[in-house]
Amino acid sequence: MPFFAAGRRSLHIAIAAVLLHACAQRVQQEQRTPADTPSLPSFDAERAYRLIEQQVAFGARVPGSRAHLECRDFLLEALKQYADTAFLQGFEQRVYGQTLRLWNICASFRREHPERILLCAHWDSRPYADEEEDPALRRLPVPGANDGASGVAVLLELARIFSTSPPPVGVDILLVDGEDYGRAGDLEHFLLGSRYAARNYPFPRLPRWGVVVDLVGDRQARFPVEAQSLQAAPQLVARLWEIGQRLFPQYFDSAPAGAIIDDHLPFIERGIPMALIIDAELVGNRSPIARRRYWHTRRDLPDNIGQETLRAVGTVLLEWLYRSPLP
Ligand SMILES: [Zn+2]
Repeated sequence: MPFFAAGRRSLHIAIAAVLLHACAQRVQQEQRTPADTPSLPSFDAERAYRLIEQQVAFGARVPGSRAHLECRDFLLEALKQYADTAFLQGFEQRVYGQTLRLWNICASFRREHPERILLCAHWDSRPYADEEEDPALRRLPVPGANDGASGVAVLLELARIFSTSPPPVGVDILLVDGEDYGRAGDLEHFLLGSRYAARNYPFPRLPRWGVVVDLVGDRQARFPVEAQSLQAAPQLVARLWEIGQRLFPQYFDSAPAGAIIDDHLPFIERGIPMALIIDAELVGNRSPIARRRYWHTRRDLPDNIGQETLRAVGTVLLEWLYRSPLP
């Protein structure tokens, strides 16, 4: 996925308030760069890039495929190495006349801590490259280097860091399945794993805040402020974008984007304040840069990914987790 929601909401006042807040923080804080922040664990972007290649090498992680099962086991084993606990949340769902077997992959860090943060990405790949011009290609799956694997890779690298530098609060990582299963226009059959997890929360405690990362690897990425995140979690958005614009202004952009349908929504509907970090102009292939118009095509491959982008997203999350008053 994801898609822009039909009908953008008017959130100008809220956006202005958040950005004013972010600007005020920015003026008060001394300018810092990642190099000046020695105690922050460092994000290994080379390793995150390799994790994208490894996921893509399984083949498209389409529910029902062998690649899906193999990648599920790979991700679970990786999380088991690092987390206090890692487990699968399996469920079945009837979709388009067949019963799909789906798995959310779950991991907890500092399991005893009462205050929790949820970090979420989707690990499945889209079964149909329906943005291809050639109808024969539209029936083939999307390799999903950026759409799926990039968010998972950032969270797996964070998991490695949490294992050596425990975060100041409890963190739960949720890799959701079936995000991108729906046919174009059929919004009911997207977000299968996050909808299931929001109804059947897999961890013992609900989080105070959550962040979804999706399409976070393109080497010319731009992350604007997504409308529903701003409405549901204005303080969180202000904090993340204050950090992002201070450390990585080439990627984090205070401009508002429309509302995007993605895995944050089922949790927001459940009352959990969640923010979505997403390269919004990829959605719907609206980038002015021709190379970047590969969303839901066979060209969603690792050669579009930039390690610096992965480092930016990972470092913003680390700075937020380790250096902010949380929750
Ligand atoms: Zn997608």
